[in-house]
Amino acid sequence: MNNLEQTLSIIKPDAVERNLENEIKEMFKIKGFSILKEKKIQIEKSEAEKFYKVHETKPFYNDLCDYLSSGPIVVMVLEKSNAILGNRELMGATNPKDAAEGTIRKKYGISIDKNSVHGSDSVENAKIEIDFFFKD
Ligand code: UDP
Ligand code: MG
Repeated sequence: MNNLEQTLSIIKPDAVERNLENEIKEMFKIKGFSILKEKKIQIEKSEAEKFYKVHETKPFYNDLCDYLSSGPIVVMVLEKSNAILGNRELMGATNPKDAAEGTIRKKYGISIDKNSVHGSDSVENAKIEIDFFFKD
């Protein structure tokens, strides 16, 4: 069945800084994702705190929000059949050390915090995250 979905992807500061934007977009395109919307922005820490609110009780929350707001990021809406799970698979495990061969985090991730990409983890969160960055 063709379950067309949209998901939010972020190329994080560590990857933008290393000029990996085009290589990572190419990996999405090869897997059949369409990039419907994209913009390169730098966000305030307060916005990162809102975006990552689900993690506010975690020990890494403060560093995570400092990090996401530390430099330019590329936010994108990706579309394909089963895009949410497909993107999670293509990204690989949160810790690049555990990420499978052929995944973005295996190829480009530096560490668990500098892991190059973000992707929505559910239909509900994809909607919330797309609205967060692209609400007109
Ligand atoms: N993170 C971290 N330390 C940890 C776990 C997560 O710095 O021990 C960061 C990492 O950048 C991760 C983000 O917090 O991508 C969000 O964590 P989540 O568990 O949602 O991982 P993801 O969905 O990005 O794979
Ligand atoms: Mg997550």
